[in-house]
Formats: sequence, structure tokens, C-alpha cells
Amino acid sequence: MITMKFGGTSVQDAPAVAGVVDIVAAHKARRPIVIISAIAQATNVLEQAGRSASEGRETEAYDGLLRLFDRHYRMIDELVKDRQRHLNLRRILEGSLEELRALVKGVAILRELTPRTLDAFYCYGELLSSRVVAAALQEHGIDAVWLDTKDFMLTDGNYGRAIPMMQSVRERLEALAVPLLAEGKVPVTQGFIGVSPTGHRATMGRESSDFSASIIGAALRVEEIQIWTDVDGVLTADPRLVASPRKIRELTFEEAFELSYFGAKVLHPSTMLPALEHDIAIHIFNTRKPHATGSRVSAARSSPPATVKSVAYKRDMVVVTITPLKRYSQYIFWEHIYSVLTKHGVVAGMTATSEYSASLVLDAKNPIDAIVLDLDEIGTINVFYDQAIVCLVGTDIRGASYVLGRLFTAVAAVPITTISFGASRSNLSFVVSGSAVDDTVRSIHREFFEVACDDAIFEPLVSGS
Ligand code: ADP
Ligand code: ASP
Ligand code: MG
Repeated sequence: MITMKFGGTSVQDAPAVAGVVDIVAAHKARRPIVIISAIAQATNVLEQAGRSASEGRETEAYDGLLRLFDRHYRMIDELVKDRQRHLNLRRILEGSLEELRALVKGVAILRELTPRTLDAFYCYGELLSSRVVAAALQEHGIDAVWLDTKDFMLTDGNYGRAIPMMQSVRERLEALAVPLLAEGKVPVTQGFIGVSPTGHRATMGRESSDFSASIIGAALRVEEIQIWTDVDGVLTADPRLVASPRKIRELTFEEAFELSYFGAKVLHPSTMLPALEHDIAIHIFNTRKPHATGSRVSAARSSPPATVKSVAYKRDMVVVTITPLKRYSQYIFWEHIYSVLTKHGVVAGMTATSEYSASLVLDAKNPIDAIVLDLDEIGTINVFYDQAIVCLVGTDIRGASYVLGRLFTAVAAVPITTISFGASRSNLSFVVSGSAVDDTVRSIHREFFEVACDDAIFEPLVSGS
């Protein structure tokens, strides 16, 4: 058994889905379970519809949805020629549009979009795309069965960032998916969405379809978790920023986690956890180059030499520095800071401390003003907006004597405000201003990956499809 997850661009239109059908067909002997993201941009359109409705702009919300459904209708016109199959699918999609229309109406009346209601909008992206892919597979003679996550992906009730309940997911999947696989069928299901204890759809966080593939893979103890996307694998840097990144052949779970946590969008950070627990390799492939080798993420088996493998970055960070009032002792000072972060459900992306003050690097999406207000009791606060974390990831960075010297050469001209080194074996991260990110990442990439690059670890990108 394997899981195969296809991302938004991999299913964005009819030709893309036709490619997915060929890829699934080629892996059919390995008994795949297919996990599908919403078609590119669908999740944003659904979110916008919810927001427009909550502000009373009902027509605007509905128009956006109509355009989204038109994209799906065009896809099935091209992909699903069997008359009965086409009619059935069209009826299902039209039913979904009606449900969404009712949802828009309700939200427009209430003028309120709760996390639960937003999830009720979001889920349609994956519900629709997975239906289209299942029908396209059937059209090509593959015995695909559409599985609703409502029947197995049980989560808590934390809408927007729901956490799966692994034991229940495992039991349900064993009862539902295993018999299908045994009969040679190909289950096709949704990424991103689960179901709360009250039976409402609950999403697991933006970009979390990768995580879904890993949950399902771990629950069924598959041989491999495959993530099919629009790049050759995990690269030495974000290809949108760096002109000639290289593909990394192999990464450890820890390296992949650090990279994704510090902004490399190619994998959702949570993806690594279920895979790591059950020691299942994650393989990232390019949907447009199905024969390329991709990148493999697995447990570290030996002690390879220290190597810098990639540079990632995370924008929209805020640095908060706190200088304690004299009357507090150090441990009360720290207790207060952590109690404020806990109260607001916030985890600092990085921290740095000295005898004199503390510095927290927080995602700007957090309620910064409220946090600062609460911290104010304990000391003098300074807040620096529009900051970014840049992070070097690799094998035993902590032990690599050459890293710091080369890094400081590469970023000599960039003011660095906070630096964290040594907490993890595999990362070195620091903070620069938002406007310095592009140049900093490019210059680090030049220093570490463009002059000399070990072909045993890195590979030039394959050209063409
Ligand atoms: P999907 O829709 O398939 O889930 P995503 O857009 O979420 O795809 O992730 C793939 C994108 O991640 C790539 O198109 C690339 O722009 C971006 N990316 C950022 N950093 C990296 C990196 N280090 N390696 C590979 N891709 C990266
Ligand atoms: N469709 C969801 C999103 O855009 C989940 C995903 O694609 O991973 O966030
Ligand atoms: Mg993604």
C-alpha cells in the first residue's frame, strides 16, 4: 500500500488531471490510496466567498463561487465522457453549489463567519476536486471509489486547526479502505478536511493536505507516502526567489521538518510527524515529470558528514524585546512571558535571551497588540514589525565548523538582529528585516550551493516534462 497526494496545481485543470490519472495507473500495482487537494486557488475563492457573505456582499460571494464551479464543470466536460457518469457527477456538483448558496445566504443574514462556518466553506474545494479525479480515473478503467473523509478522518473540534484522532482514524480506515484495496479498488479521498466530534467538517490548517496523506499513510502503515507537486522535490531554496536551485536527493525527517517549519512551502510541517512515528518514507515527486527521481525524506540511518542542504525563510514576523523591570527576579520574568504566550496560544518562532533582556520572534498573524499589552506589566517593550527569519538547514550544522564563517561572509552587509544556533543539530536561524530577505537568501544560496555542490547530495533540476 502507498498513499499518493496530489496538490492544487497538480489537479488545476483537465490536462493536469489527465496526467494524474496516468501516474495513478502506473502505480496501481502498489495499491494506492489517492488524496486530493482543492484545485489551485479554490480554497482562497471559498474563503473569500465566506468573507464577502459575512460583510453582506452576497452577490459578490455567489459570483466567485459560480466562476469556481464553472472551472469544475469545464473539467468534467473534458474528462468525463460517459454520459451517465457525467450526469451523476454534474448533479453532485450542482447540489454542492446549492448547499454553498444556502450557506452564503445564512452567513449574509448573520453577518458572522465563525471558524466552524469557514470550514464549512473550505471543505467544498476538496470535496469537488476529489469527485472529479475519482470520475476521471473510472473513465480510464480504474476502479476508483470516492471516500468521504467524514467517514474516517475524525478530529477534535478545533475548527481551522483540527487535530486527528489517530486511533479512531486507523480503525475506520481499516474497516473502510482495506477491503476496497483488497478487491483491487483505488480509494480517492480529500486532503485538508476531517470531521469534528459533532459531525461538522473541520479543516486541519491551510496547506495540510500533505498532513492528510501522512495521517492516512501512518494509519494504514503504508510502504511509502508520496507527495506529488509542481517542483522536482525539496530544493536548496525557494525556486520563486533563486534562479538555479538544486534538488536535494535525501533528507531526514528532522531536516524536512525544520525546512517546512521555517517556510519551505513544499511540505506542511506536520506531515513529518505521523511518518516519523511509524518510520515511513515520504517521497516528493513532480507531477509534470513523473519519471524524475524526486526527493526522499526518511529517518537518518548512519552519521553522514555535516552538510548545509537548504535555505528557507519566513516573512511577516514581529520581534518583541522585553527588558524586565528591576523588581522582578529572572524566573518570575520568564514565567510571566511564557504565561502570556500560553494565554494567547502562541508559540515563539525563535527566542534569544541575555541577562538584560529577552527577544521573542512571533508570527505577525498572532494578536501582537494584546500580547504586548500583557507583557507590558513586566518590563519595557520594543516591537519591530516587518521582520523575517532566514534559516539554514542541513545535517549536523551544529557540528560543521565551516558554516558560521561562510554564513557571515555571505551576509556581511545585512544587519542581523537575532540569531539562534545550537538548539537543534540541523538548523541555524536568524532574523533580518523583511526588505533584506530576497538578497540574503540569494547570497546564502550563492555561497553554499552555486560554487561547488556535492552531486551525491544534490542534483540539477531535470529540464522539460
Ligand atoms: P501543492 O499545491 O502541490 O501542495 P505547494 O504550492 O503547497 O504545492 O508547494 C510547492 C511549492 O513550494 C513550490 O511550487 C515552490 O514554489 C515552493 N517552495 C518553497 N520553498 C521550496 C523548497 N525549498 N523546495 C521546493 N519547493 C519550495
Ligand atoms: N486546499 C488547502 C489549502 O489550499 C489544503 C492544501 O492544498 O493542502 O490550504
Ligand atoms: Mg502544499
